[in-house]
Amino acid sequence: MKLMDKDIDNSNEEFDMDHAVAEEVLDDLAFYRTIVANVCMIGKPDSDNWLLVDTGVAHYTKRIIAAVEKRFGDKAPSAIILTHGHFDHVGSSKELAKYWDVPIYIHSDEIDYVTGKDTYPPADPTVGGGTLSLLSPFFPQKPVNFKKWVKPLPENGEIPFLDEWKYIHTPGHSPGHIVLFRESDRTLITGDAIVTEKPESAVAVFIPLQKVYGPPAYFTSDWVKAEESVKKLAALEPETLLSGHGLPMEGDLLREQLHDLADNFIEQAIPKNKKH
Ligand SMILES: [Zn+2]
Ligand SMILES: [Zn+2]
Repeated sequence: MKLMDKDIDNSNEEFDMDHAVAEEVLDDLAFYRTIVANVCMIGKPDSDNWLLVDTGVAHYTKRIIAAVEKRFGDKAPSAIILTHGHFDHVGSSKELAKYWDVPIYIHSDEIDYVTGKDTYPPADPTVGGGTLSLLSPFFPQKPVNFKKWVKPLPENGEIPFLDEWKYIHTPGHSPGHIVLFRESDRTLITGDAIVTEKPESAVAVFIPLQKVYGPPAYFTSDWVKAEESVKKLAALEPETLLSGHGLPMEGDLLREQLHDLADNFIEQAIPKNKKH
């Protein structure tokens, strides 16, 4: 599959594609880091079906394709799955879906936000905006609309093409947010339901520490539901965690920190001015 400039409307992308490399977490799980958000790849490099989870910020299409081709050759993913519709997770979705001619799956409660029908409440700068200012050039100028490619995820929790994986509805950060979970080895992909880098701090983006944090505060719309969702995730007792922001985590350290966050959610995750 040869990448042609005319195929992708991202003419301002200039980047040495040698640097676009996915990092392997498990033999069938890898991630590629866009400016702040992770793009996940589920599936072994030689498997018939593999999925791309989230697509990072805009203008990363060519880099994502380069990272994908290094891992999967010219085998396109069977579909794109979105954990939710925030701009830092869906930025390159349309171009990628068009390029590979694949569907984009998202939870039915989130679908209006990626089909031009609804927009999220604006980011709340009063909670601290470190990464926010870094990301501002990527803010969408108009409502996101991938109507041609979007499909709702099946209601029974199944992930298309991957039998072993299920999705779990984890509202709070956004209404139709989902995480992906594989019970056999307790692998968890969380989008923004929990993250491993403190997104309100600009410094955290450059000094990655492995720590479990609550959802990015400036876009979280419902803190009560967000807490319920974090408790749900702690009960899964995950062994491996790959979140939407930050580095992967595993084992006892992951579970201890996740339980600590679930048990002390109000103190640890909710910004001071949002507590009541
Ligand atoms: Zn988000
Ligand atoms: Zn995010």
